[in-house]
Order: sequence, then structure tokens, then C-alpha cells
Amino acid sequence: MSKNVHTRFAPSPTGFLHAGGMRTALFAWLVAKQAGGQFILRIEDTDQKRKVDGAEQHIRDCLEWLNLNPDEGPFFQSERLELYRQYAGRLIEAGRAYSDPYSPQEVQKFREQAQAEKKPFLYRNHRPENPPAWDGKTPLRFKSEPKDYTTHDEVMGELKTGPEVIDDFILIKSDGFPTYNFAHVVDDLEMKISHVIRGQEFLASLPNYRNLHEALGENPPTFVTVPHILNEQGNKKLSKRDGAKDILEYREQGYLPEAMINFLAALGWNDGTEQEVFTIDELIKKFSLNRIQKSGAHFDERRLSWLNGAHIRHMKLDELYKKVSGFWPKTAENYDEEYKNKVLSLVQQRLKFFAELPELTGFFFEDLPVNPKLISEHKQLKKYDKSQLKELLEITKTELEKLAGFKADKLQETLNGLLQTTGEKPAVLFSLIRIATTQAASSPGLAETMEVLGQKTCLNRLGKQLQDL
Ligand code: GLU
Repeated sequence: MSKNVHTRFAPSPTGFLHAGGMRTALFAWLVAKQAGGQFILRIEDTDQKRKVDGAEQHIRDCLEWLNLNPDEGPFFQSERLELYRQYAGRLIEAGRAYSDPYSPQEVQKFREQAQAEKKPFLYRNHRPENPPAWDGKTPLRFKSEPKDYTTHDEVMGELKTGPEVIDDFILIKSDGFPTYNFAHVVDDLEMKISHVIRGQEFLASLPNYRNLHEALGENPPTFVTVPHILNEQGNKKLSKRDGAKDILEYREQGYLPEAMINFLAALGWNDGTEQEVFTIDELIKKFSLNRIQKSGAHFDERRLSWLNGAHIRHMKLDELYKKVSGFWPKTAENYDEEYKNKVLSLVQQRLKFFAELPELTGFFFEDLPVNPKLISEHKQLKKYDKSQLKELLEITKTELEKLAGFKADKLQETLNGLLQTTGEKPAVLFSLIRIATTQAASSPGLAETMEVLGQKTCLNRLGKQLQDL
């Protein structure tokens, strides 16, 4: 590939972006970056009825969050009407476009007629013989030249089609706006797009686009059709209706942009090895169109969380500390940076996304009320009666009171000693101490957690648990 690689992301501002649109943007960005080419943002806003306020800003926010910044654009199709008219003029002059004289009702009648005859509806079968000159008030249609095509798609391979898929589609609607079919071809030519990377819904139209390219005397770009993203069950295309989330919701939940990129890249692409965690630089180096799969890719949010956790684990603590600043539980505001850093270093290994922080760390910042269920529903502890549990906690408390200095290694020694004295298994004794000191079902390593909590807090909490037994 060369510097002449130009790719584009061409969303319609009709709502929020979900993983599908974002992945298309990422693939186009990767192809451009890898070749030292240009990544262009084009807002396809010619369908005025479907336009949604704020959607364009949302698209920009998504790209900015993932750092997929366009080298050019945004271009707005609604500001380029003159250009589409010029191209339309070229086609009219060449006898390849004509004014559509029919009312929508008449076209509907043709459609029904074809249906009744069990034939596919083709507009070109009704092409008027002497259409009036186009006055801009009626639709302008492409005069197609039906023929066979073998179209190469970088992902889908060779697509052989016959003349029956070629039809006279609308170029410019009666409201003066071009259709997607026309506008995107014009823009892709004008913007010298080398690779048209987009979803599968446009695959069936490729022969028509080729027909239009020929009418304009231009060469087609390289077509790259990315497979659908399927829902978790794998039985349906992922869609907003089926709960596909706005990409920015993941930002709000504290997912890392690099993990999201890693996740999106793996939706339908792999590098042929077992590698799962990729940095952005690695993706730029390794991404290749010929390893995009043809079949649908499963969307699995647990995989995203897993990848996010993997990226979090690889981060330096001070870098992570800066990123989680907005996610601490409210109670953390009374604690200093040093303490919060210690807490963070303990949960870094298990943190999947930042919004989990309050749940994972709450007990480091306040004494949570004693929760009797943690014992009554505990697999082992529920078999013990209260006096036994009391005794275990009393012994523990006495040992911990004796300690001068509360460091994890010394604590671990003491805890191990307690196993000896009491003859209990860690799954019993350590669970009990964990519950008493944290009121959480799980925590980072017990000794490390206790060191951060400090002797006074641990003893207090053991005392409270004892009172409540
Ligand atoms: N505006 C189209 C869409 O949002 C873009 C298709 C394309 O990339 O050409 O679906």
C-alpha cells in the first residue's frame, strides 16, 4: 500500500454510534495509518428526514474518545449539493440520466404489477421513451446499462452478478438532495478514496455502483465489505433495537479507549496467531484486510471487560491513578493520594472497568455495616455455630492486638500461625476474617488488605463483628 491510500468513515447522523459503526471507522483508520495515507470523515446527511440533532457531535466525540482523528473533514454532504448537480449534469449530457416522470403512486403500481406477475420489479422496464428535460423538481434517475459483472471484494472475494441486479436508481430526489447511492460514489471519487470500507448492507448494490462508475468514465475503488456483527447468541445482527449500546456508554463506565479498539479490531479480524491483547501500534502494524473474516463476528461484552482488565493490568500505577480519578466512591474524598494509590495497587489486578471501583474499594474508605448474610450464606461458615465463630474471632483479635507494626508479611505469618492454633482451613478462618474486616464477599489478598486498612480499623471491625454475632 502507498501514501495514496485514502479511506473514509461516512456515517449518517441518524442516532448514536454502536460497535458496528465504530468498527468500520477503526478498520478504515487502521488501513490509512498503516499506509501513511489519509483518513477522512464525511457526514452523510442527505436524508433530511432521518437527521437527528446532536448526532454529528456524537460521532466526533466517539472518534475523539478512541483517538481515531480524521486527517481531513468532517465534510458534510448537505454542503456539497452543487457538486452532485455537476456530476448529474455530466450524466445527463452523456445520456445516462433522465427525469423520472412518474408519481410515487404510479411507481407503486408498477411494483404491484411485477409482484402479481411474480417477476422482480425493475424500474428500467418502465423507462419513459421521451422523458421531459429535468427541471430539478422530479427525481433524476440513472440510465443503467444492464450487464454481467465479476466484482472483487477484498473480504468477500469474487462476486458474479447478472444484468437482473442492475437498475435505474434515483440519483437526485425531488427535494434536491442526492441519494446515498449517488452522493457516496461522487464523494468517493472526489476524495480519491482508494478503499471503500463499509458494512454488508451495501454488498448487493456494488454492481450498480460499478455501472455508475463506468457511466462516469471512472475506475472503481477497492471494495472492502466487513461482516455483520452478531448479537451474543450469534443468531441476529447486532442492532440498536436489540440493545446495542452507544459507544460512549463504555467511556462513562470507565473502559479504556485502547481496550475498546482492541475489542473492535477483533470483531471479525485476527492476526492468525493466538495473540489477543494488542496495543494500537501493534494493530497498525499487523492489521490486514485479507485476514478479515467473511462470516459474522459475535459481540460479547464479557470479552470486552476481559480485554479491558488485561489493558488495566498492563498499566503503570501512576498512569492508572490519573485515569480513575472520577470513579472513586464518594467516601474516598477524605483520603489522601498515598492511601488511594495503595488501594488502587491492590485492586488493579481484578479491576475490569473503572465503574467497578466503588464496589471493589468501598470498604477501604468507610466501615460498612455488618452484613449477616455474608456468614449465613457462606458455603463453609454457615455450618459453624455462633460460639465457634466468636471464639475464632476472639483469638484472631487477641493476636492482632499484640502486633507491633502491621505489615503484610508479618500479618501473613500471624494469619498462618492462627491456622495452626485453631486447626481451621484458610477457606474458613481467612473467609471469616475477611468478612469481619471488609464486609465484602471478596477482596484483594487478605494480609495486603489488612495492612492498608491498618491495625486500628481492623481491630474495630473485628470488634463490631463480634458484637453482631
Ligand atoms: N452513510 C452510510 C451509513 O451510515 C455509509 C455507508 C458507507 O460507508 O458508504 O450507513
